[in-house]
Amino acid sequence: MNRNDELFERAQISIPGGVNSPVRAFRSVGGSPRFMNRAQGPYMWDVTGKRYADYILSWGPMILGHGNPEVLRAVHEAVDAGLTFGTATELEIQIAEEIRRLVPSIESVRLVSSGTEAGMSAIRLACGYTGRNKIIKFEGCYHGHSDRLLVKAGSGMLTFGHPSSAGVPAGITNDTIVLEYNNPAQLEETFKELGDQIAGVIVEAVGGNMNMVKGTPEFIHAIRDLCTKYGAVMIVDEVMTGFRVALGGAQSVYGVTPDLTMLGKVVGGGMPVSAFGGRREIMNQIAPLGPVYQAGTLSGNPVAVTAGLKTLQLIQEPGFYDRITATSKRLTEGLTKAAADNGIPFTADYCGGMFGIYFLPEVPHRFADVMKSDDKLFGRWFHQMLDAGCYFAPSVFEAGFVSIVHTDEVIDQTIAAARDAFASLR
Ligand code: PLP
Repeated sequence: MNRNDELFERAQISIPGGVNSPVRAFRSVGGSPRFMNRAQGPYMWDVTGKRYADYILSWGPMILGHGNPEVLRAVHEAVDAGLTFGTATELEIQIAEEIRRLVPSIESVRLVSSGTEAGMSAIRLACGYTGRNKIIKFEGCYHGHSDRLLVKAGSGMLTFGHPSSAGVPAGITNDTIVLEYNNPAQLEETFKELGDQIAGVIVEAVGGNMNMVKGTPEFIHAIRDLCTKYGAVMIVDEVMTGFRVALGGAQSVYGVTPDLTMLGKVVGGGMPVSAFGGRREIMNQIAPLGPVYQAGTLSGNPVAVTAGLKTLQLIQEPGFYDRITATSKRLTEGLTKAAADNGIPFTADYCGGMFGIYFLPEVPHRFADVMKSDDKLFGRWFHQMLDAGCYFAPSVFEAGFVSIVHTDEVIDQTIAAARDAFASLR
């Protein structure tokens, strides 16, 4: 038994399933999860000393790669200045100003510690602001694990075959309407019927929790138009896409101005920072200004904010997003060709530094398409890649990520490994 297997056995005694977030458990692909203890640049090392090219990047945050020296230096200084004050700090103003500058739809922003909190708070705010109760979300989109949003919520739940979580009272999700992604006609019908009861619509403009599924421009703009027409709040969940698909996030790619935006992952540079923000008129409803309550002991933590702030500064270097987009393109085109040469039904797509790989004959546009993925074939490919030192997400329902330090050489080595892996599937 190797050290990963030993640790997995031990972990399962003290931690449910041996993990602190379900998809880490490798349930759908089988085998022991890798226990990592070091990461640098595009690589992570597990406890046996094996190196992996990392295409998960802590589920998105590490856009600069692991261990960026400037981020680490800033964090070390912040640690020396104090771990947490529980007070207002100048750092919070600096990151809020940076966020506002980079995402102009955000006039005012509040920091929280997870994307879940950002989603939960944005929904509460939409309801408080409009005085309405119903929320529309889309099948396959995940907005964190707060009760109202945990219905048909994509990756983690799909991996375990749960349409929704046990323990969420039906009374709570009764006001959550789940519609089909990329189906503007269905959305319009729903607004026609219930428009005066709908507080808001929450969407991942590029879906990253049913593998990667891009919203069509018609769909995203229909959400904007219908929210405006019926006085509902449009919430774009950019926890995954923010500072990842483009400097201005998915909203800049689609040219859409949401009322509220959720941020997470990259905004914290690998530390627990997330945020929600948007129109000042709406944000002014939050305590202490308004009646919508929201709070957090470690919100705006100075060490975490320092990592986020430094990351936001570094992603603004000229050519950053051209470079990272070129990396995604090289990877996805290389994988697609390697699969095609071996006659494996496989496609891939990308958006900035985020990509989808599909064991499907065509790029999916809806959740139902993703559900047709050949997960058995994927599981075999995943393990071949893992053995070859390439760490992809352990589920057909997860998106993948590249960093700015994934060089062409790293990508080409991964493609070469994938070619062998595809050949072994024939
Ligand atoms: N929203 C989206 C789009 C996400 O991908 C995630 C997490 O993966 C969340 C919200 C929840 O964020 P967190 O895991 O920080 O609670």
